[in-house]
Amino acid sequence: MPFSPATPRFTGIRSVFLDRDGVINRKAPEGEYVAHWRDFHFLPGAEAAIAALNQSGRRVIVVTNQRGIALGRYTSADVEALHAQLRQHLAAQGAHIDAFYCCPHDKNQCDCRKPKTGLFEQAFRDFPEASPSTSLIIGDSLSDIEAAQKLGMRSIFIEGDPETQKPGAGKAASLADAVCPSLLDAVGLVDQLG
Ligand SMILES: [Mg+2]
Ligand SMILES: [Zn+2]
Repeated sequence: MPFSPATPRFTGIRSVFLDRDGVINRKAPEGEYVAHWRDFHFLPGAEAAIAALNQSGRRVIVVTNQRGIALGRYTSADVEALHAQLRQHLAAQGAHIDAFYCCPHDKNQCDCRKPKTGLFEQAFRDFPEASPSTSLIIGDSLSDIEAAQKLGMRSIFIEGDPETQKPGAGKAASLADAVCPSLLDAVGLVDQLG
């Protein structure tokens, strides 16, 4: 994407919420899930993007819908084990994620499955110094962008491969404050990181 003067800069951001699948790692094909470390494949530049956020002193929080747990495809323990592996891998690169919040529920069963805002509210309780006005979400689904809008947070939509894009991508792109091809590009729009 060529830089243009219209490309927004994200100023005053202290906390960056990241969706997981399709932002940090490659999304599984429709109907399949990333439940184990062996199925977890970083998207290009994702580790560097997280490290850059860490080095700039910003908080990095992962918020992820994992409906596969409700469907019995894997367990909460599998997700915890995967996230432990992810932490270990990032630590070896001098990077870290400050907290993970996961919705294990099926559709319309809870207050935390994005676009609901429960995962974010939990994070704001755990990090009282964080606030929506100083937070940004980077996500690849309409549900990420809609959650941000409900909370009054800024958002960047990661435009995935058009072949595997979910319905709602067009709407997400129009609602988000910016659209980027990757997490690394998105992080480059945060002030002092470009
Ligand atoms: Mg996603
Ligand atoms: Zn939930």
